Amino acid sequence: DKVTTGFIGLGQMGYRMAGNLFRSRPAPFVIFDADDRATTRFVTEHGAAQPDRDLRIARTPAEVAEQADVIITMLPASAHVRDVYLGDPAGLLTASRPGTLFIDSSTIDPSVARELAAAVAFRSAALVDAPVSGGVMGAQAGTLTFMAGAPNTAAVDQVRPILDAMGRHVVYCGPNGNGQVAKICNNMLLGICMIGTAEAMNLGQKLGMDPVLLANILNTSTGRCWASEVSNPCPGVVPNAPASRDYEGGFGVSLMAKDMGLAMTAANQSRVVTNLGALAHQIYNLVANTPGLQKKDFGVVYKWLQGKSS
Ligand code: NAD
Repeated sequence: DKVTTGFIGLGQMGYRMAGNLFRSRPAPFVIFDADDRATTRFVTEHGAAQPDRDLRIARTPAEVAEQADVIITMLPASAHVRDVYLGDPAGLLTASRPGTLFIDSSTIDPSVARELAAAVAFRSAALVDAPVSGGVMGAQAGTLTFMAGAPNTAAVDQVRPILDAMGRHVVYCGPNGNGQVAKICNNMLLGICMIGTAEAMNLGQKLGMDPVLLANILNTSTGRCWASEVSNPCPGVVPNAPASRDYEGGFGVSLMAKDMGLAMTAANQSRVVTNLGALAHQIYNLVANTPGLQKKDFGVVYKWLQGKSS
């Protein structure tokens, strides 16, 4: 089809997602990033591979909205997303046309997602919040899961072919903002489980247990979770996990601290008790501010704990 596609935010995740989308759709493609190097790299890599394709670099979000019928955003946090949509004079909504479909895959505050959805609806367009799980590897392989919040299922069905080009599963979570709700609840639990696993592995080892044997027991017992089994934070337990390569790659501890903060803001706004979430948020903030650990996978909380234990 000839529907022009726009993509804003070609970072760790977005660059790979946009690459998969570009390859799967023959339509014109417009890209924008605040960092020119990202768009130049995209044109060098993908434009050169398919020289007959219509691939354009926009200079502002508004220029994307002028040209594209479907626009995906993949930006760091709420403030960037708000700026790209509502910025004056160059934001997306200054130039959006009725019927434009917006998909925001960034992980942001659910209340910001709802605010933007209302602003988009006011312009007779539709926004689907569709944050992802699956990480950089899932983005590269096109196997992401999208958690979609949308005004109705029809809007999700409209964006499904786009999301299918970048992922494997699309789950409709309810009205706008609910995609973000699902995402931050998952990441809050993930963050808590990682700290719990790190504490159990550290305690067991300090008490004289072999870590590989301990992990095997956890993983065939009731303490089993993703952090114990797939991405065990103790080095050497899972050979291909970030912990076994000095916590390189994986999911950054500062991104985990950000997502925990989103969950805590939402919990406070709704007066919901999340004791462990609050404690885990503090711990990830401490780890993310420890020199040498900032850029590491969030499992580095294990290394941080070891440093605290005698
Ligand atoms: P990133 O920082 O690597 O990329 C963000 C991109 O947005 C950069 O290229 C940056 O230049 C661009 N950008 C920033 N502000 C901009 C603006 N105002 N206008 C245009 N471009 C702008 O981040 P990422 O790792 O790709 O993550 C993106 C989102 O996905 C985040 O919300 C993150 O929480 C979420 N997420 C990340 C992962 C992961 O493993 N990295 C997994 C799931 C979800």
